[in-house]
Order: sequence, then structure tokens, then C-alpha cells
Amino acid sequence: MRQKFVMGNWKMNGRLIQIIGLVHDLLAICPRQSAVRTAVLAPTIYLPELSTLLAGQHIGWGAQNVYPKDAGPYTGEISGLMLSDYHCQYVLVGHSERRHQFHEDEKFVAEKFHHVKEHGMIPILCVGETAMDREHGLMEETLSRQLSAVFTGDRAHALQDCVIAYEPVWAIGTGITATPEQAQHAHAFIRQFLSQFDHHGAQNLSILYGGSVTEMNAKELFAKTDVDGGLIGGASLHAQQFGEIVKCINYC
Ligand code: PEP
Repeated sequence: MRQKFVMGNWKMNGRLIQIIGLVHDLLAICPRQSAVRTAVLAPTIYLPELSTLLAGQHIGWGAQNVYPKDAGPYTGEISGLMLSDYHCQYVLVGHSERRHQFHEDEKFVAEKFHHVKEHGMIPILCVGETAMDREHGLMEETLSRQLSAVFTGDRAHALQDCVIAYEPVWAIGTGITATPEQAQHAHAFIRQFLSQFDHHGAQNLSILYGGSVTEMNAKELFAKTDVDGGLIGGASLHAQQFGEIVKCINYC
């Protein structure tokens, strides 16, 4: 059985006092006995607080970004080594906001992915096509390119201990969600594509859907065969909504 996940990407939101309140609410609301693993991906500056509040609890935590070097002249950056000081279990890499607004290319995303693994954390690799890619029938080509950059060559074993998030760019923060059929199609394509590197690894890989997931649409998305949970942006800032989304996966 593939591991199910529901992860919250808080992006650059919240002040310390709000983050503390949100964590307390999430601990109370998110189901404790559950087949799904839950985690929150916080602004880096709040990770020390999170590592204290969530230690030994049923919600994991991680970072939204990393720089793929251990140390050196990289002013303002944070390494995987530093993140591991706060016992992060997960690190997002390749989120579309970083690819598009911060011009991160596929080679750089791949370096981050492998750096995270080298430090014993689980990278959540985000992939997804733009609206224009989709209009031009280029969804599969885009996904193949983004995945190949990370998994080619002698890196086939990289499929172990990682998570993929399919996040169509046109669905992120727009209120437009992929239909369950569109999500299933893309997820099945990703799994099939990755099978060429490691068939067994691809079958066991957790592929999450992200893009305007709410408690209203989560159940139908999570019911699809190749959808193993969700990466939740906006709705993860509201404990009640996030908790409802986590509960949706328990019914699938
Ligand atoms: C995200 O930022 O990863 C995301 C999926 O955002 P939203 O749920 O707000 O679309």
C-alpha cells in the first residue's frame, strides 16, 4: 500500500503568534489515529518553534526551500544541513512559485532534490504544466522534462524516500481545481513515466495533487487510483479546513 499524505504549504504567511495558534489548532483538529501522514511546510524562520511544538506529535514539519550546498559564500541561503538541525522531515523542491518567480531551472531543482536526500530528509518534488502548456497539448512533455532532470542516469534509486506533487500551475491559488479525471490522467502519466527508471519504486511512490484543494473537492480527488493525497496551500492556513481535508482521505 502506498503511503497517503496531506501536507500544508503555508508559503510566506503568518506571524509567529499566528503560527503558534495554528499549530495548536491543528494538533487538536487533525485526526491522531489515521492512515494518512500529515505535515506542515513552514517559513524557515519558524522551524525552530515548530520543531519544539510538534516534536513527538502526530503532525510532521518541513521547509519550503533549501540551497543545495552545505556551507559557503551563499549569503541569505539555508542548507539542508541547517534544516536537519531542526529535524525537518520534508523539504519542498521545484514549487512553481520558485520555478517561475525565482527562475529556478530544472538542473537547480535536481541539485536541491539530491541535496535534501543526502541529508536524510524527504524531498517533495513539485511538477506541473502551465495553462499554455496544456492548451498546446504539452502537459506530458513538460512533466517528462521536469522528471527527467531529476531521475535520469544512475539516479534511478532516487525514487525511494521521496514524494512527487503534481501541481498544475493554472490551479495553484486560482480557485480552479483540476477535475479528478485530469488529476488521475496526470498522476498515471507520472507513474508510468517513472516506471522506466524503477518499476517497483514507481508503483510505491506517493504522488500528491496540489492546486486549489478544499474540503469540498478533496474527497473526489483523493478517491482516484493514482492520487495519494494532497499538497494544500491556501486551505492549510485554516486549521478547520485542513483538518476536514485530512479526514477526506480516510474515507478513500
Ligand atoms: C501550493 O502552493 O502548493 C498550492 C497547492 O496552493 P493552493 O492550494 O492555494 O492552490
